[in-house]
Amino acid sequence: MEGKDALRGLPVYQPGKSLEEVKRELGLSEVVKLASNENPFGCSPQVWEALQEEKFHTPLYPEAEAPQLRAELAQSLGVAPQRLVFGNGSDEIVQMIARAYLDQGDEAIMADVTFPRYKTQTVIEGGVPVEVPLKEGRHNLDRMAAAVTERTRLIWICNPNNPTGTMVSGAELEAFLERLPEHVLVVVDEAYFEYVEDPSYPDSLSLLTRDPRLLVLRTFSKIYGLAAFRIGYGVTSEGIVGELNKVREPFNTNRIAQRAARAALADQEFIQRCQKANREGIEQIQAQLVEWGLSAFPTQGNFLLIDTGRSGDEVYQSLLKQGIIVRAGVAPGYPTYIRVTIGNEEQNRLFLKGLAACLEKPFDERG
Ligand SMILES: *Cc1c(COP(=O)(O)O)cnc(C)c1O
Repeated sequence: MEGKDALRGLPVYQPGKSLEEVKRELGLSEVVKLASNENPFGCSPQVWEALQEEKFHTPLYPEAEAPQLRAELAQSLGVAPQRLVFGNGSDEIVQMIARAYLDQGDEAIMADVTFPRYKTQTVIEGGVPVEVPLKEGRHNLDRMAAAVTERTRLIWICNPNNPTGTMVSGAELEAFLERLPEHVLVVVDEAYFEYVEDPSYPDSLSLLTRDPRLLVLRTFSKIYGLAAFRIGYGVTSEGIVGELNKVREPFNTNRIAQRAARAALADQEFIQRCQKANREGIEQIQAQLVEWGLSAFPTQGNFLLIDTGRSGDEVYQSLLKQGIIVRAGVAPGYPTYIRVTIGNEEQNRLFLKGLAACLEKPFDERG
């Protein structure tokens, strides 16, 4: 039986292949997964210590408002606790935003290409996605502002942008907000916030204390290494939190995830080490790409969108056979590109070795 009209033609999300799947299908014992921008260093060891206490609480429902995590996160961000909303991953908050703000026929502006959930959730709610092509891999804010109509309710800005890794600066974001009418909610998705090094990156939390039209999304899935637990958050005005709470599942974030997030948040030394290793990994891969005459978009995240000069799908398949999982096809319109997550030093070396074999480039094992 077919679903509602809005679902016609809607594709099912295709995740990157899992480690287990590739091991099974190809009969490989060693597989490196650099496909979903997960943290190659896992999570803080303090998370597992904290979870030991949780085994006594498994029969109990979680606290719906995540009060302890809320208080600790509010303190660490320097925002009022009632400005926070939690989700079963920030993915769920994307869904809540679309559900709370889009009526049939309402428009949501987003980049082409960007994180695919903005479009999917827009379509599910009967909204109209308005996709504005990237300009040299970056959000084209001029054209996005020009695309605003009376029906526009939402604008999605992915910063840094997945899959290109490129960034909108603070000055650019402020100038953009100034041009927008009152009736538009601007969502800035900062899933890779902790990886960013560029000093011109927006201070979005201070912007949103001045601008009630702004909502900032962050997650514990990326640098915090808690993707398996599913927990992310939004920071916005109290009024918007109130609207999102109307559509939120009462027990949307689970007890274990709340506890894990608190422990992960407390270990900022771990986060700093991961950030530094990521920067070194980008340099390790970039240096080799330059030597081979290949290019990638300048990234502020933990992934690189690389122009292989060949069919991205073929490069993907060749790497897969060598036990290395990356992503192809995440950037329609960029058919020669693959997206690779920055791994640890050894994983990056294996990736480069695999890429060298595929592209017939010289590779120095010791390099
Ligand atoms: C990974 C990612 C998310 C989703 O994170 P979850 O919190 O795991 O749902 C959101 N936005 C972008 C841009 C991402 O890359």
